Amino acid sequence: MQLVIVSDITRRKLDYINVTLILKMCGIFGYKGKKGALNTILTGLKRLEYRGYDSWGVSSLKKGKISVAKKVGAIGDIKVLEREDNAVIGIGHTRWATHGGVTKVNAHPHYASDKSFVLAQNGIVENYQNLKRRLAARGYKFISETDTEIIVRLIEDELKRSKGLQKAIIWAFKKLQGRNTIILLTKAGRIFAVRNGSPLVVGVGKDEIFIASDTLSFADKTDDVIFVDNLEMVVLDDEGVNIFRVSDGKRRKYKLQKLDHRDVSIDKAGFPHYMLKEIVEQKHTVREAVQYSIEELKGLMKSIKSAKNVYTVGSGTASFAAGQIAYFLRKYASIPAVELKAYEVDSYKQLFQKNDLIIAVSQSGETADTIEAIDAAKAREAKVASIVNMVGSSIPRMSDYPFFTRSGPEICVVSTKAFTSQVAWGLLLAFSVAGKHKFVKRSIEEFSKKLEKYFNEDLFKNIRKLAKELLRKEHIFVLGREQNYYMSLEGALKLKETAYKHAEGFASGELKHGVIALIEKRTPVFVIVSEDDVKDDLLSAAAEVKARGAWVIGISSKNNELFDNFIPTVDAGIADPIAKVITFQLLAYYLAVELGNTPDKPRNLAKSVTVK
Ligand code: GLU
Repeated sequence: MQLVIVSDITRRKLDYINVTLILKMCGIFGYKGKKGALNTILTGLKRLEYRGYDSWGVSSLKKGKISVAKKVGAIGDIKVLEREDNAVIGIGHTRWATHGGVTKVNAHPHYASDKSFVLAQNGIVENYQNLKRRLAARGYKFISETDTEIIVRLIEDELKRSKGLQKAIIWAFKKLQGRNTIILLTKAGRIFAVRNGSPLVVGVGKDEIFIASDTLSFADKTDDVIFVDNLEMVVLDDEGVNIFRVSDGKRRKYKLQKLDHRDVSIDKAGFPHYMLKEIVEQKHTVREAVQYSIEELKGLMKSIKSAKNVYTVGSGTASFAAGQIAYFLRKYASIPAVELKAYEVDSYKQLFQKNDLIIAVSQSGETADTIEAIDAAKAREAKVASIVNMVGSSIPRMSDYPFFTRSGPEICVVSTKAFTSQVAWGLLLAFSVAGKHKFVKRSIEEFSKKLEKYFNEDLFKNIRKLAKELLRKEHIFVLGREQNYYMSLEGALKLKETAYKHAEGFASGELKHGVIALIEKRTPVFVIVSEDDVKDDLLSAAAEVKARGAWVIGISSKNNELFDNFIPTVDAGIADPIAKVITFQLLAYYLAVELGNTPDKPRNLAKSVTVK
């Protein structure tokens, strides 16, 4: 099959101009091959389900007719589909609703009025009200409440004037504000997809082509991919794949790239939930994250040493990893690194300079806020390094020094193993800069071995028992300091995400400056105590809150009389922050289970936040 690509780099910057404040994301999947299109699409959607999971739909073409099957709920009910799957082309969508309720009608794909094509969208049409008003005035009717249907009607409207569908799609696409990626299946047996912001990749297999939101969705089928840039249109038909620039309709040549997906499995491996599986996997994944040789780190290390400023950036959990990495660089390598929140980039972007280095942290490699911070840094010629889990995603492609955590697919929406791998990589980096590359590798290796033994039924029972005692508590506090400060923040975030509890992490030094006013009788306060220089500070903090009636829960490798409850952890030396945060991951998991929440898919959350 032949492949042609179109791009518009100059308009790339427009990409972030109109973005909304909604956290969401969905997955799209297109397929053209020899047979079994619907099953292939369903499998692909299942592998994309972590991105959005309220409803889904598939479309295929048979005997010149496009069929659509949609469902509310989890992907997998194949009964809605025809038994005989001999379609060779189709598209699918897993939705995370932004405009319009979670209903079958609002699920994608959406038909054109004459059923000549169907369309699915990942993103938000921010000017949808304006567009809808204008289209309604011209007599167009809307069946769903989605912003997606506006794109369909816009294309129909333009089709009346323009020469052909391709031009009509491009025209309509240019009218959309916001980050949008769309995919269409036509009656003539073609698939069109246009990208702006939300990710899109093409996978090339033997006699089959995939177009999807990420490479994981087809990683079990092929490693050969073509990256689609923003404002490029992919056209897939009998001639193969053609890719056109949205701006001027020109083609660009492409190169097939080989992806190094080491682990593509997405099954639960016997665990009841992905979350528990991924927590336990940390016994191996922390080791994977520090596999880089000194040779591979050399470029980045040089850049760190010569940089005027070193900033680490991320959002959410990754921002805590970014904070931890900056801490390690300061503490162990005397590099004055500072963590910045990616989503606050407008408040500091003017500070970026040519000799600065940004270290971006992201699980998905598609986080919109982080991409925006990288864009701002690049615009001022700063260098960019990144530590990302998803191979084939956008952030590594934007980086001068891309690194991967290699923790394998993280399917649970809340991050566990990817986070600790980012932290482990931070240790590797800081100690390598400090000339202790072998030492850090050895330390993580030993830690990994200790974790093998640590994860056992007694631990799970112990933490589950504590979860039961915490069930009715609405406010939970977590105290850490120095190496465990960011762990207190991340630990609290885990409890918020899956248990929906108000949990707050503090540096213990903060206590006397106000926080202690929150302590009441039986307020649960977790105290993270490592065998380090600030151990006594933490124990003093424990005594202070205990004196005010708090219920003190010690997270430590050693028990202490101040602890009302004690969750033992591994004594992990330099990797101790990782050992400590694991307790909160497990607690968040068991709290979710005991509360009847869904740990893998917490309410309101989506895994990769590709919209601001
Ligand atoms: N805005 C569209 C909707 O609400 C697409 C959402 C998505 O990306 O899943 O249907």
